[in-house]
Parts: sequence; C-alpha cells; structure tokens
Amino acid sequence: MQCPKCKTENPETATYCVRCHTPVKYTCPSCKHVQIQGGTCEKCGVDFAKYAAMLVFQAKDTAQAERAKAQGRAAVIKQILLLPITGGLSLIKYFVGRSRDK
Ligand SMILES: [Zn+2]
Ligand SMILES: [Zn+2]
Repeated sequence: MQCPKCKTENPETATYCVRCHTPVKYTCPSCKHVQIQGGTCEKCGVDFAKYAAMLVFQAKDTAQAERAKAQGRAAVIKQILLLPITGGLSLIKYFVGRSRDK
C-alpha cells in the first residue's frame, strides 16, 4: 500500500504511513469499515469529518455539563461556608435591634 503523501510503500496492515504518519487506511468511526480513502464511508456513507466534529462537539457538551455541575456544587459549598458569617450577622443585627429597644 503506497502512502498518498510521500509514496512510501507500507505494509498492507499499516493504518498510518511508517514514514510520514499520514493515514493510509481509514476506519469508519460508525461501522468500523476499513477503506483506503478518507472522506465518506464506502459502506454506511458516514462523513468522517462531520462524524469527528460531532464527537468533539459531544465531548465539549459533556465537559460543559460537568463544569456546570461542579459550579453548582461550588455555589452550595460557598453558601454553607458563608452561613456562619451571614447567620452571625443577622444575630448581631438581632442583638443590636434589641439593645436599641431598651
Ligand atoms: Zn507517507
Ligand atoms: Zn461506515
């Protein structure tokens, strides 16, 4: 199998060119069909670039969801940490208010 880029002869089992690491074989990410050319799958018609972009997009989505979850958790922790302060303040206000009443 010849590399499309540097014309190096690669073994039939090679997925990437042994010399320049250009893919000489493409595996469909959807149906695992192996073919020589990239672009679209000869078997199921999946667009490799679009599929890869979709996977990246999904990964980004889950990362964002994870971050949002972590932020929500941080906000709760912050509130718990601030509770003695805010609680203490209202307590002070309560005593100040009482002493004013006298
Ligand atoms: Zn090559
Ligand atoms: Zn396919």
